[in-house]
Amino acid sequence: MGADMDNWHQLNVEQLWQQLDSEQQGLAPSQVDQRLQQYGPNQLPQAKGKPAWQRFMLQFHNILIYVLLVSSVITFWLGHVADSLVILAVVLVNALVGFIQEGKAEQAMQSIRQLLAPKAAVIRAGIRQHIQASQLVPGDVVLLEAGDKVPADLRLFRCHGLQIQEAALTGESVPVEKQTQAVDAMAALGDRTCMAFSGTLVTNGQGAGLVVATGQQSEIGKISGLLRDVTQITTPLVEQMGVFAKWLTLVILMLAAALLISGVTLMGYELQTLFLNIVALSVAAIPEGLPAVLTITLAIGVQRMAKRNAIVRRLPSIETLGCVSVICTDKTGTLTRNEMMVVSTAVSAGDYQVEGEGYEPFGRLQGPNAAASDELLAIGLAAQLCNDATLVKADEQWLVQGDPMEGALLAFAAKSGLTEAQHKAWTRSDLIPFDSAHRFMATLNHDHQGHGLILLKGAPEKILSLCQWQRGPDNTQQPLAQSYWHDKADRLAAQGQRVLALAQKNTHAQHLALELTDLDADVVLLGLVGMIDPPRQDAIEAVHQCQQAGIRVKMITGDHAKTAAAIATQAGLKHADKVLTGAQLEVMDQATLAEQILNVDVFARTSPEHKLRLVMALQELGLVVSMTGDGVNDAPALKRADAGIAMGCKGSEAAKEASDLVLADDNFASIAAAVREGRTVYDNIKKVISWTLPTNGGEAGIIVLALLLGMTQPITAIQILWVNLITAVTLGIALAFEPSEANLMTRPPRPRNAPLISGELAWQIILVTLLFICGVFGVSYYGTNLGYEAELTRTLAVNTLVVMEIFQLFFIRNLYNTSLNWQIIKATPMVWAMVITVVLAQLAITFMPPLQKVFGTRDISWQDGLLILGVGILLFILLEAEKQLRHCLLHKAR
Ligand code: ADP
Ligand code: MG
Repeated sequence: MGADMDNWHQLNVEQLWQQLDSEQQGLAPSQVDQRLQQYGPNQLPQAKGKPAWQRFMLQFHNILIYVLLVSSVITFWLGHVADSLVILAVVLVNALVGFIQEGKAEQAMQSIRQLLAPKAAVIRAGIRQHIQASQLVPGDVVLLEAGDKVPADLRLFRCHGLQIQEAALTGESVPVEKQTQAVDAMAALGDRTCMAFSGTLVTNGQGAGLVVATGQQSEIGKISGLLRDVTQITTPLVEQMGVFAKWLTLVILMLAAALLISGVTLMGYELQTLFLNIVALSVAAIPEGLPAVLTITLAIGVQRMAKRNAIVRRLPSIETLGCVSVICTDKTGTLTRNEMMVVSTAVSAGDYQVEGEGYEPFGRLQGPNAAASDELLAIGLAAQLCNDATLVKADEQWLVQGDPMEGALLAFAAKSGLTEAQHKAWTRSDLIPFDSAHRFMATLNHDHQGHGLILLKGAPEKILSLCQWQRGPDNTQQPLAQSYWHDKADRLAAQGQRVLALAQKNTHAQHLALELTDLDADVVLLGLVGMIDPPRQDAIEAVHQCQQAGIRVKMITGDHAKTAAAIATQAGLKHADKVLTGAQLEVMDQATLAEQILNVDVFARTSPEHKLRLVMALQELGLVVSMTGDGVNDAPALKRADAGIAMGCKGSEAAKEASDLVLADDNFASIAAAVREGRTVYDNIKKVISWTLPTNGGEAGIIVLALLLGMTQPITAIQILWVNLITAVTLGIALAFEPSEANLMTRPPRPRNAPLISGELAWQIILVTLLFICGVFGVSYYGTNLGYEAELTRTLAVNTLVVMEIFQLFFIRNLYNTSLNWQIIKATPMVWAMVITVVLAQLAITFMPPLQKVFGTRDISWQDGLLILGVGILLFILLEAEKQLRHCLLHKAR
């Protein structure tokens, strides 16, 4: 076999089969295994990330760390060895935590990327299947359709209007029309029209080809060599916070310098002690851990969403999802189960009920007229042949490979009495593929007796407009009774059934290429079929949840208005009785649309361009729009939406690439879950910040205040450094793991540009800072008053500070609700793990003699221990009372 050559475009199709030792049936499993061994997986080698030691060293590349290292050296030089070591420990622990957490975040993103790995439709051993594109080998038969990304280099052997956009390879953005004839050996890549190249995008039509090169042997592999996709784990908000932290650092350093200079010159402090205090002040005030903790918060959000079947493609969308105010969703498969079954059919002889279970190809047709069997056979034949799906039986269950609706039609065809011999007599010669813009498909079929038969299926309005005739008894033709059929279709649709019309046209043996113009005359209607596709239970609940959360849910479907309205009612959409159709949208001007759009939740018979228009109209009203899509033509609307959501199962690669989020299960409930997680992430970012800033502020404020008032420090520099070290890497991180708050999905979406630190939050930060300072100075005063030794007083003060930080953590867990409930006290395992760590560490530095030496601490009595606990509880009560009062007042004011 010669898969190593590169002149495939020069071979004709017969030579090709030979060269690749393959056939229409596809490769056998043993051949696949052998070739996978020989050629390796069909993927580009991953660019290696930075080695671990380098990533670790990068953690030190940060102005704050430089400042700390320099201070550590100076402190050492001044003879304060212990302080110098604690500063080094701060640096090390910070780097270590940053390193580990960043690694975890990266892993999370990596595993999510794997969930998005491309798939390919192949025929192997005669069976059509979906496999990971990485498993393709030379000689595989690959099927292509609009929206697919070509998974490997292919020599095409079948094309139906196949057009491919090859910008990734040639830079040319106009799609290339493909065909199957060999081309000149010297043809440039862009002119090899019988080839489809890995990484390019199918924009139109259908086709099939043989894999000729995979992985690095493919044309794209030759150019790029390595797959380099470094994802930055950040969002605009987190980036802003990073910048904010940098500026804060700078301001703090300048203030510290000013304080140092004026302290020595104006206030007469001794340089040595002052320097230490200033270092402690800077370390305490600078939120060095904040950017890392925010990154972790995001990574956890990404992971949680993935668990709920929502795969984030672009990280900033996490933020957007949290403020979504309209969700525009598909119907089929998203709100409904996409498990279809034909339950009724109407032919000119009368209406029939179709019995049976799922996709099982047996069951009876109950109707008025048994003699109509040849009319049923004719509609059955159309259902069978104008179809790209297959039914397979696996584990006693019948499953569909391909479109579920077409699977339902296959089951129906079998029930109509059509035998395998009857339809196997026909082979397909050509096809007009289904396209959501024209809403029908047609096939051209021939048998061995020289008959040609064009079969059509599609939306009733479309098919009826193409027909002049209808089929009567004994294969007679009657003039079409338009209004009779429209009526029937409406009636079935009003019951929530998805209605399709089927039609046929006889032709001759020499007619081999199917054109749209072939459908201009002599098309005969065979009848209608109606299928049910019940809504998903969890989607109904999710719709309700979204509505409670102040999010409008709108359905945008290609289906019939009546079907759409019926399903919308079942799914619990508001205004389900009012439907706007694509045709009405066409003639509506922008102003009328803007006026009506808020009061209409169901849009039917729409095409992809309408989606774009709706997104823009909603955005103009200031709403944050999330839009779902699956087809290649949905890409513009998905890109334009604030959060574009693609379907993972039935969605095309084109739609996925244009989206921010991919649903692994196509389920509306997963969108609601994603919104929920988006809101949670935002809340947690807020919580992390509102815990970190006041603790930093409190620690720094204590030092500054003592300096300015000329008092002895209530807490020594080394103690402040210690507190900062131990709490920042424990308590701060615990908040990244917080679950959603109780009212998360009952409050309205936050406005798009709501500031992260609102007035209320800023006030809370200031209040907490002040309370921290009061608590520490209060305990310090208490100790001094009782005539305690200075060391003991400081031990009380430093423990008070830590206890207050712990209680504040519990308080912050509820920004919106009362904190006085059992859930808050129960907290999460993460919170308790961190609190226990901190408490043990505090006990160690308070009671262990060697550590007492380092930190200058003393044993404390249990009475004083209780007092400290009391201060923490008091802080909690004060904060809670203030919050309740504030909420009360704000509510009244509104
Ligand atoms: P939906 O929003 O329900 O996914 P689509 O755009 O997929 O709508 O389909 C719109 C209409 O096109 C359907 O109501 C049906 O009448 C018709 N249709 C859908 N799929 C096919 C197909 N494979 N062949 C023929 N007609 C189809
Ligand atoms: Mg569809």
